[in-house]
This record gives sequence, C-alpha cells and structure tokens, in this order.
Amino acid sequence: MANASLLLKAGREKSLLRRHPWVFSGAVARVDGTPQPGETVEILTDKGQFLALAAYSPISQIRARVWTFDPNEQVDVDFFRRRIQVAIKQRSSLIPDRKGDSGTDAIRLTHAESDHLPGLIVDRYADCLVVQFLSTGAEFWRETIVETLAELTGISKIYERSDADVRELEGLQPRSGILCGNPPARLTVSENGLHFSVDIAGGHKTGFYLDQRKNRMRVRDLASGRDVLDCFCYTGGFTLNALSGGAKYVLSVDSSEDSLKLLNENLALNSLPVDRSSVLSGDVFHVLRKFRDEGRSFDMIILDPPKFAPTAAQAEKAARGYKDINLLAFKLLRAGGILFTFSCSGGVDAALFQKIIAGAALDAGAEASIVEYLSQDFDHPVSLNFPEGSYLKGLICMKK
Ligand code: SAH
Repeated sequence: MANASLLLKAGREKSLLRRHPWVFSGAVARVDGTPQPGETVEILTDKGQFLALAAYSPISQIRARVWTFDPNEQVDVDFFRRRIQVAIKQRSSLIPDRKGDSGTDAIRLTHAESDHLPGLIVDRYADCLVVQFLSTGAEFWRETIVETLAELTGISKIYERSDADVRELEGLQPRSGILCGNPPARLTVSENGLHFSVDIAGGHKTGFYLDQRKNRMRVRDLASGRDVLDCFCYTGGFTLNALSGGAKYVLSVDSSEDSLKLLNENLALNSLPVDRSSVLSGDVFHVLRKFRDEGRSFDMIILDPPKFAPTAAQAEKAARGYKDINLLAFKLLRAGGILFTFSCSGGVDAALFQKIIAGAALDAGAEASIVEYLSQDFDHPVSLNFPEGSYLKGLICMKK
C-alpha cells in the first residue's frame, strides 16, 4: 500500500500491462495525495484498478518507475534484499568458469530497469562496490540499498558515482564519494586473466567499461599477427587484449591524456610488450583522416566511440559521426582486415547501425561482410519487457 496514487488516463495502461516499467507524464490524469520525490505510489487505471507500485518523479518526463506489478508485494527493506539477491545469483550462475587464468572480479551486479531495480547500477570491482543512484526512487532508498548491498555481498567498501547527466532529468544533483568503509580511489581488477587499474573516483561511468568484456575476448581471439588500431581506447581494454592475443603491433588513440596514462600503467601491470604498443593522444576523427592522407593501413581496427546519440532525437547527427569514422576505417583496412565497430547510443538501434556501416563501406569503395554480431555482456541483461535496456551493438566486419 502507498499513501499516494497516480491515476492514468483511459487507455494509457497498455504498456504497464505488458510490464514496461515507465509511466510517462502524458499518461497521468491525476495525482492523489502529495507524494515526495522517490516516494512509492500506486499506479491505477482510470477506473481505479491497481497496476503497479512505482517511485514518483515529479520533474521527469518519466513520471514514475515501477518497482513491482504484484499487488501483494511491499516496497521495503525485504523487497530490495530479494531483488538484489536475485540479480547477484543470476550473475554467479552465468559467469564463465575459464580454467587456467585468474578469472574475472569486475562485474555489474545490478543493471537498473533490466534487473527490476529502476535507476540502480551496482558494479563490483574486486573487493569494492561502486553504486549509481540514477532515479528519484533509487535515491529515496539509498541508505537501505547501501546496507543491503553490504549485507548481501559481504563487501564493506562502497563508493558512489551518481555524477551521471541523467540525474538532472530527475531533478537530482550529481553526487559522488564514499558511502561505506574505506574504498581507495584506485584499485586493480582482473578481467579474463588481465589486470586493469581502475580509477573509481575519477574514471568514466563507474570507472571501467564492463559491458565490453566478452567483445574484448573476441579481439584477443582474432588479433594474432595483426597490426591493430584501437580507436577510443580509454584505459586499454581492447589494446591489452589485442597484445595478449599476439598482435604484431597496437596503436591506441584517445583524446583523454588521463586515460592514456592509465593505459600505459595497465600495460606494465601485465608485463605486456611495450615495444609492440604505442599511444597517440588526439581526436580520432582527425587522426583517421591524417592516416588516410598518409596512406597508412592496418589489419584490425577497433572503433568504440562514446555515446553520439543518447536518444532517438539525436540519431541523424550521430549517424553522420558513425558513418564518418567507419568510412575512414574501411579505407585504412588492408584486404582480409577486421573491423570491430560499436555504438552504445540508445537512439541508434541495431538495424540503423548496420545500415550506417553498410553505407560507410559502400562510400569507402570497400566490399565487406558481417562475420559476427556483438552486444553488451551478460551482466548487462535486457529484460524482455524493457527493450531500452539493450544499448550496445557491435559488428565484426571483414574486408575482402
Ligand atoms: N574501448 C574502451 C571504452 C571507450 S569509451 C574500453 O573498452 O574500455 C570512449 C572513449 O572515447 C573515452 O576514453 C573518451 O576519452 C574517448 N573519446 C571521446 N571522443 C573522442 C574523440 N573525438 N577522439 C578520441 N577519443 C575520444
């Protein structure tokens, strides 16, 4: 039960009946009561029938995010204990058990809406947790969530990185810092046997791009003997995997000096051959053009740019950006060369992305085929009721 309720307009219950967790402001006819931001409210049809319990967000276009569709479930400490436990259990039953390496200890434990915990991201980095509260609902329950996480994981070092832009849409200020225990600003994690230094206090997102884990393995699988260009390399996720997979040479490009510094530290951490690697600080758009003008070529190119289009409204501009870098990459690839190309833009879906890449190859005068479709790793699941949870798409293309 809740003290306040949102009555929907007639016919606007359809998406909720399909268990989509968002209530848009335009669907709401009336608010009964005076709920605070993040407070639990009942969502009712125009006829007053129960649909869900949700977190109220007075400023956001997404006026409420559903915690539960079960009329018998309460949103309380036990609710969070159950939900987080299910999410953790799902991960532990899916993590690959690869023999002969030191494994993986960096993993996303909750992926927000996709784990029925709207707005809550929890990443485990070795013996620390990094948490993002990205909705009013998650923010409302922050203390309960932190206590529950410590209890369920046995981890007492918890850091907050709620400094993502989306918080603004919810009327929340950015917030980061220590939540519990004494987490260090920097720590070392293992991913499929490679070690990475992660800056949980100042790095992107919560510090590391966990979603690319399995795709980095594919780079490792295919890099042997190749000249590799890793564009938008960040702290070297793909670079290190290419080198450990036996790449002949890897050139890594990023515009962030801090990221490149960490990349060099990560090379040293794994005793990888620095004489087969170099880094270049610069804008990938310019670097690729310059390489084309110089007639340079590579056997493998990785393009993992930042989000060009957070929503569909920016898709057209984003499409031009994707086409530009992919066209140049197709030109720089040698015959038999492999392109790993990604988009993490929610506003560009897989079909549109493939179309953009096809256009890029055509205009580059390259004949290429898709040899593999890629996506985010298993710890970033996509609830079937929430297709928006699928954001990372990638293609492995081979040039003839
Ligand atoms: N591939 C990385 C993640 C890439 S995130 C990994 O697996 O960890 C995107 C990166 O692109 C960031 O490091 C950011 O600094 C960099 N970046 C953003 N715009 C850029 C540009 N125009 N040129 C070069 N790097 C850019």
